[in-house]
Amino acid sequence: MISGKTIRPGATLGVLGGGQLGRMFAMAAEQMGYRVAAYTPERDSAVSQVCSHTVCAAFEDTGQLKSFASAVDLVTIEFENIPVAALQTAAQHTLVRPAATVLAICQNRAREKGFLSERGFPVAKYRSVGARQDLARAEQEVGQPAVLKAAGFGYDGKGQRIVRSSADLLPAWSSLGEQESILEEFVDFEKEISVIGVRSAASEFSAFGPIENVHRNHILDLSLVPAGLDGALADQAVRLTQHIMEELDAVGLLCVEFFVTSSGKLLINELAPRPHNSGHWSLDACSVSQFEQHVRAIAGLPLARPLLRTAACMVNLLGDLWADGEPDWGAALALPDIHLHLYGKGQARPGRKMGHLTACADQVEHALEKALDARARLTAVSSVP
Ligand code: AMP
Repeated sequence: MISGKTIRPGATLGVLGGGQLGRMFAMAAEQMGYRVAAYTPERDSAVSQVCSHTVCAAFEDTGQLKSFASAVDLVTIEFENIPVAALQTAAQHTLVRPAATVLAICQNRAREKGFLSERGFPVAKYRSVGARQDLARAEQEVGQPAVLKAAGFGYDGKGQRIVRSSADLLPAWSSLGEQESILEEFVDFEKEISVIGVRSAASEFSAFGPIENVHRNHILDLSLVPAGLDGALADQAVRLTQHIMEELDAVGLLCVEFFVTSSGKLLINELAPRPHNSGHWSLDACSVSQFEQHVRAIAGLPLARPLLRTAACMVNLLGDLWADGEPDWGAALALPDIHLHLYGKGQARPGRKMGHLTACADQVEHALEKALDARARLTAVSSVP
């Protein structure tokens, strides 16, 4: 349900989750005069370094959740693999945005795809696989190649296996732990894009993007704005995002990831009801960031109108960059219009998102070149002996 209540600056916003999205949300909220309290099982999390206080406890700890929710004016989330029950508990004690019903749909691929396809939104052909005996039929109906995706707790390509032939199917099912899954046709896409929709408590809507995204090893590698996309297709992506948010009655942010097929059609890949990695460039290249829009939306304040100030390219900085020691920040920052964001994470592990760089330029091609150059400079071996 949408409530018209406004949570004014000075109030305390509670965020469930301890990662970089919560950290950047907290920084935006604090800039606007809010206090931010975090709830996360992680010690020394990216969020806790920047917020007023942290409760370090499990999402299953109902007692701790209850007292956390009772002490804040609103609860939001920063990643979607939070048990729905945690949001339901919080909702008994304070305002919760996004609602537990939205999270329940977006955190489970089978429910998400079911929600979208039942309402006629374009998705790739897929079948739900609840048990081993569903596999053969799903394979017959979806065809090959296909992707077997675990329904729950998947992100950054985790819990996915490509199925190129019948012989791959059972091993894929076993290696995912024989859990509820979907079998989805392999999409021969031309590009991947996303739109980050923002919907306020008063049903105002605004959007970032479309954004063009490039993944490497199933993890987002870089994002480009503006996306090189036909105007009508760009409008369609934004309209679909707005329509999905209305159908979900979502308040806050919703990132919709799309495939653009070789025949120029949009297929929705997945939904994330929170700030998204593909919107980080908005901190440096836009009149308002996705994080500030999220604060405005959930607090019941008017939304800003996002105006793209320059073209931009955001590149992720994964832990792999630390393989030979601390990256050379000075070498990258010596370039003009490069902005560094690090998330305060102590341990650099391969594949772990440690930070990102945004390059701004007059044209997106130049932004891409600059961002890649800056990232390469981080680990370039000095020519001076
Ligand atoms: P996901 O976790 O579903 O966002 O998947 C991560 C990445 O895997 C996507 O961004 C795509 O690059 C790739 N991927 C996922 N599903 C498919 C598919 N059905 N066909 C082709 N590539 C896919």
